[in-house]
Amino acid sequence: MLEIQLTQDLVRKESITPNDAGCLKYIEDFLSERGFISEILTYGRVKNLWSVKRNSGPLLVFLGHVDVVPTGPVEQWEHNPFSGFDDGTFINGRGTGDMKGGIACFMSALSRVNVDELNYSVGFLITADEEGPSKDGTVKVVEELIKREEKIDYCLIGEPSTLEIVGDNIRIGRRGSINIELEIFGKQGHAAYPARVDNPIHKVVPFLDKLLSEVWDEGNEHFPPTSLQVTNITAGVGAHNVTPNNLNLKFNLRFSTQITAEEIQEKVSRFLTNEGIKHKVSFDVNAEPFYSEPKLFTQIVNKSIQDIQNFETTLSCSGGTSDGRFIAKTGCEIVELGPKFETIHKINEKIEKSELERLTDIYHQILLNLNEETNN
Ligand SMILES: [Zn+2]
Repeated sequence: MLEIQLTQDLVRKESITPNDAGCLKYIEDFLSERGFISEILTYGRVKNLWSVKRNSGPLLVFLGHVDVVPTGPVEQWEHNPFSGFDDGTFINGRGTGDMKGGIACFMSALSRVNVDELNYSVGFLITADEEGPSKDGTVKVVEELIKREEKIDYCLIGEPSTLEIVGDNIRIGRRGSINIELEIFGKQGHAAYPARVDNPIHKVVPFLDKLLSEVWDEGNEHFPPTSLQVTNITAGVGAHNVTPNNLNLKFNLRFSTQITAEEIQEKVSRFLTNEGIKHKVSFDVNAEPFYSEPKLFTQIVNKSIQDIQNFETTLSCSGGTSDGRFIAKTGCEIVELGPKFETIHKINEKIEKSELERLTDIYHQILLNLNEETNN
């Protein structure tokens, strides 16, 4: 099966973010054999591939990334993380699930059709900066495409989306993410003289209580409710008899479209004021949420999954952030459909060979069903 070979070839290139390690060239060569015209768009240290086969009709773009997260301790891996080792059932290695497998499946699906005869154009936007800061990747390419007035109609993202069986869950949006860093100021002193100290640890307790009991929203049909996690708290000088001068707290919210980043900021600031806390706070909205209204393309993806798997998929907006938030700015209809996310970013990341085959079948079916739709 071609998708298995392609996955292994890509995994063997050690493309730890933001290096593409030759992955982009590999994909470009594959596409140029099929009549695609490619460009490498470089921003800072990051290379991005923009490759299009132009026919008449709408433009479908496959969006993906070849960069992977670091392996962690290599000796804890069952197989070398860049070996693409085939154990009979799984292809093992960093990036198999996130998301070289998805790219390989779409390439393989494409090789099953005659691209010259499609009633639509096909594009590839592949970055090497999704797992890193995401500043010189898809976001920049999309800016350039908007400047060029390139019209993208449909976007398929091969990020892992499956819960149990390939295609059982697809994403049409993602939550936003906001990082909040707080410093609470107090007054250092001797633990024996409570009247002379101002203890920031005592100050943070009622604030944290407010923060953690707050219902930010209830979510909606597609979005889970907004959630908060405290990720870091530090204070104290290390002695039993000294109260600290200040306290640092970090927390993150994953927010739905039912609330805005501004509303979150206002609420947090109000809690701080109400508790009379002397502080410095900074807010970093590292991802805005996006939601793509399900229309024709979502129907086609749904039908394609049904054709291959005989079940109806579920639409959701769960998971971390994705580059979908950038391409959403073009106004295209977006669907994320990929393999299971169970082992991604972990030690012993792997993907089932049958999963790759099934995903390729579904992608192939999408190409066929879209052709049928654009024929009318
Ligand atoms: Zn990914």
